[in-house]
Amino acid sequence: MNEYSVTTKFIDLEMQQKRIRPYLDKAITKVLNHGQYIMGPEVSMFEDQLKQFSGASHAIACANGTDALTLALMSIDVKHEDVVIVPSFTYVATAEAVAQLGAKPFFIDVCETTYNLDIASLKRAIKDSKKMGINIAAIIVVDLFGLPADIDSIMNIAKENNIKVIVDAAQSFGAESKGRKVGTMGEITTTSFFPAKPLGCYGDGGAVFTEDDELAQKIRSLSLHGKGSHKYENVRVGVNSRLDTIQAAVLIEKLKIFPSELLSRQKVAELYNEKLNSSQIKTPQIPDNHSSSWAQYTIKIDDRDFIQKELAKRNIPSIVYYPIPLSKQSGYTNSITVSKGVEISEKLSEKVLSLPMHPYLSEKIIFHICDNIKDIISRR
Ligand SMILES: *Cc1c(COP(=O)(O)O)cnc(C)c1O
Repeated sequence: MNEYSVTTKFIDLEMQQKRIRPYLDKAITKVLNHGQYIMGPEVSMFEDQLKQFSGASHAIACANGTDALTLALMSIDVKHEDVVIVPSFTYVATAEAVAQLGAKPFFIDVCETTYNLDIASLKRAIKDSKKMGINIAAIIVVDLFGLPADIDSIMNIAKENNIKVIVDAAQSFGAESKGRKVGTMGEITTTSFFPAKPLGCYGDGGAVFTEDDELAQKIRSLSLHGKGSHKYENVRVGVNSRLDTIQAAVLIEKLKIFPSELLSRQKVAELYNEKLNSSQIKTPQIPDNHSSSWAQYTIKIDDRDFIQKELAKRNIPSIVYYPIPLSKQSGYTNSITVSKGVEISEKLSEKVLSLPMHPYLSEKIIFHICDNIKDIISRR
């Protein structure tokens, strides 16, 4: 149809690979040569770099972002029948990690402008829990689409009520809030290196961050079958969740260009904002003193499904993250939902649309996408 039709990709990992391919080849070859595929030297090297990058005291690499959440929950002893507060508008893994441990997700609503956990809804859930006589074991805060949540308010409420806070930063690694990098907020932070995340490997990968020495030790032990002082001493029931050496080698190379990629994502977001912001299109709102890692660039529009279909006809990819709030998922009926309900999550699931976002998106293609969206809206 036009010169852009084949080049508009939702996420472009090829261009990134082209940029660093010789370094990747060298790094992977090195692992093939030394042969330490599990817990090779690249793994601890990458963990050190994660600490340096985020400023966190401890970084423990693991097999994926879902395991990172499981390890975090296990480390604070979340178990069968415990209740964990989770936003209803997030990727399923946040609640899945809770349910897999036999615990119950307690779904609360999100804020309409930030898509992150809503403070009023959190307060209401805590009030509800007292009325119901249930004990809240933890809150999982999600930094949705790359924007860090309002962690100070959440931590204050959590401390008052003696509840532990886990930050699911699967989408926000690289972002900042009030001068602090993601990885240092909450008792424990988890992230994912799934290929499409802002920092992704070529397979599955994840990490857990904490400032607490004891928790760090426990998380590491849990990830290695509950390992004690040596491999064949098992002091607790753990899991098998390690980052492959080859993935660590890939991540070391990708982390080198990550800061420049974050800047490029920011530029892409600013161009989108400039071109799209109008009465019919709600662009993302980033609060003062915050930065996003722009895992997704998500707008809100009326007639979302129609607009998405029209965009597809014009070869412009877009994705709905997320079409069903978790509190409405049939696999999660054995959960609790905050007494006032999750009205905003339900509304968002009908209006959100995520547009192509990656560090290599050219101005020309961004304008092409924006012009088409506006054209579709004007013809409605
Ligand atoms: C991707 C994601 C996860 C899970 O990460 P995996 O590495 O795919 O297991 C968890 N939470 C959120 C919010 C995510 O986006």
